[in-house]
Amino acid sequence: MSAVHRALKKHFGFDKFRSQQQEDAVKAVLKGDRDVFVLMPTGAGKSLCYQLPALLASGITLVISPLIALIQDQVEHLKALNVPAHSINSKLPSAERRQILADLESESPRLKLLYITPEMVASPSFQPCLSSLCARGLLAYLAVDEAHCVSQWGHDFRPDYLKLGDLRSRLQGVPCVALTATAPKRVQEDIERSLKLRSPLVFAIPVFRKNLKYDVIFRDLLPDPYVHLLAFAKEALGGNTAEKGCGIVYCRTRESCEEVAHKLTKLGIPAKPYHAGLKVGDRNESQTDWMADKVPVIVATISFGMGVDKANVRFVVHWNLAKSLASYYQESGRAGRDGLPSSCRIYYSPKDRDQLNFLIRKEIARKQEKRGSEKEKDKSPILDFEAMVAFCEQEGCRHATISQFFGNQKPNCAGACDFCRDPRLVRAQLARAAALSTR
Ligand code: ADP
Ligand code: MG
Ligand code: ZN
Repeated sequence: MSAVHRALKKHFGFDKFRSQQQEDAVKAVLKGDRDVFVLMPTGAGKSLCYQLPALLASGITLVISPLIALIQDQVEHLKALNVPAHSINSKLPSAERRQILADLESESPRLKLLYITPEMVASPSFQPCLSSLCARGLLAYLAVDEAHCVSQWGHDFRPDYLKLGDLRSRLQGVPCVALTATAPKRVQEDIERSLKLRSPLVFAIPVFRKNLKYDVIFRDLLPDPYVHLLAFAKEALGGNTAEKGCGIVYCRTRESCEEVAHKLTKLGIPAKPYHAGLKVGDRNESQTDWMADKVPVIVATISFGMGVDKANVRFVVHWNLAKSLASYYQESGRAGRDGLPSSCRIYYSPKDRDQLNFLIRKEIARKQEKRGSEKEKDKSPILDFEAMVAFCEQEGCRHATISQFFGNQKPNCAGACDFCRDPRLVRAQLARAAALSTR
């Protein structure tokens, strides 16, 4: 067993790494000669990529994280593992704070991981400590968690993260580890630039999932969209197999949730609606019945699904368009968590596209009015939406579009999307839709 594996077992109690990428990232960080960029979905175990190296290195790892609550969780977790970790923040009692600072001033500090918010990094009170650590060569790594917060294009921009560029300039020679969940390419580029990552080694879990089949159906071309949906749902659920499967249909409005659920049920597949307009009891019942495989299909607004991790979702339908390609990837990605073949379909309609486009622009205008100014990042939702529209309207591999949006290589789709299966059908559908719109 290698020293890294032994440390993994000793400090964290794990027998093996979660993924090859996690192992490779840990080893690259340990080597310490390059900046490292970790892009992995939530829950993939990104923290370990700097925590394990921090324990094996001499010196202290400074960890930047956006929220005191997140920091406290992490620090508690590490303390429970007997790892010397602490945070300095505004909520810390001053006695404790003095103790930590004294340790940091000592010749060989006990502390291995010091968690702080970006505000604290920039605060005058912390500067002497930081300079002293740096001058004594005691900083092993700088880890920036939730690194997407540095991007104006991200959904969670925090101006204080921009100060981290200056911090990096001050910490010459300290390698940086930036970590974030799978993010659009634009956001990745922002992170590299703002955090001054010098040709970083990138460790990413690919977004391509070969068990997911993607296709797009133009709803307005169908004689009866509900009958079409029924046939799709039946096929995806596999009818007569013993294996129980289920599906999700996403709609934008409460009314369409009700309508679609009602139609599907009437046509022979039990379906329940889930939206904010339902009484809490009814809504919970929809969810528990679906979770318990008592009703196979849930017809929901996008509020449904956060934190729902069900393995046997055989299909995810978007009856209405998602607001961005990133959201679509996340929502459709609830299918096939068990690795079995599953289908993701959008019932696309230009009218629906125009409505959503209108809503997105209205929301931006509302924000600008409230704040009284325009900002560069206001364009972000529009670009994200345009990527979603292009996904539906273009002639090309759907998997490739998603992968490239997230900065991955073009994957080997091998017929897992409608375009790769039969480009002629996709072209014919586009032609019919174009003819319909000019009539
Ligand atoms: P992320 O930051 O990527 O969302 P975390 O670092 O919070 O993920 O880790 C998610 C969970 O995975 C944690 O409970 C963590 O202890 C666990 N974990 C991390 N690495 C491993 C591993 N090698 N084996 C088993 N569990 C792991
Ligand atoms: Mg994390
Ligand atoms: Zn394809």
